[in-house]
Amino acid sequence: MIALERAREQLETLGLIEAASKLDARLDAATRAETPYAEFLADLLGAELQVRRERYLLTRTKLARLPFKKTLEQFDYDAQPSIDRRQVNELASLAFITHADNLILLGPPGVGKTHLSVAIGIKAIEHGYGVYFTSMHRLLEDLRVAHEERRLERRMRVYLAPKLLIIDEFGYLPLDKLSATLLFQLVAARYERGSILLTSNQSFGEWGEVLGDPVIATAILDRLLHHSHVINIRGESYRLREKRKSGLIRTQSERPE
Ligand code: ADP
Ligand code: MG
Repeated sequence: MIALERAREQLETLGLIEAASKLDARLDAATRAETPYAEFLADLLGAELQVRRERYLLTRTKLARLPFKKTLEQFDYDAQPSIDRRQVNELASLAFITHADNLILLGPPGVGKTHLSVAIGIKAIEHGYGVYFTSMHRLLEDLRVAHEERRLERRMRVYLAPKLLIIDEFGYLPLDKLSATLLFQLVAARYERGSILLTSNQSFGEWGEVLGDPVIATAILDRLLHHSHVINIRGESYRLREKRKSGLIRTQSERPE
């Protein structure tokens, strides 16, 4: 067997499938360009590593269940002057995840809360952190069912494992006592261990009402806010702004929201 054939099989045996498939072409190119051996080898292994990283990111992104793909680069700060770009950049450095701090995004519908959550989630995945995205409604439905079926503890692990848990849309629906208790359990269990990124259309003052029970509300807020960063977005809906620009909606007072 010729050496080239043997090398390819050895790469395959080692599981370096991408390197094996690129061996011929890269070797040809290196021979023609008289590339040094070390450089050739680094290039070949680099191709393998790149494919692995892409696959890893794809898997992690699927596991995270992000609702769409939006990045920080796609975020238009000019459209949202109430957001401090520096604060967002600081958060995007992900130090808050290292410290297991929480991040709360507050603001009316359409101002980019979910967009920013997803963008930070993607950054976190790229950084190697486990991320899981869910909505408050889905989360609590899931925990309620698990509770009824007496497998709450096991199910909780799904929400305790990732370093960053994104809970979108707190406040659209009021919570009953069981839901509020389940949420408290989750927040308490993640406290100082893993970050929660929570978005809400309700200001903190209204959380008591959403949670139904002022004692549980205080207990949840206490843990959630102890180590936390808050971004309060006060602008107008980006979707409506786009529509207004295109002439579909004319004035602020005609907003259907
Ligand atoms: P929210 O979660 O606050 O209701 P979203 O994040 O879902 O709002 O934003 C609604 C839509 O508008 C999304 O498609 C989002 O990408 C876009 N959007 C919102 N704000 C901005 C912005 N400042 N720059 C770019 N796109 C934005
Ligand atoms: Mg949203």
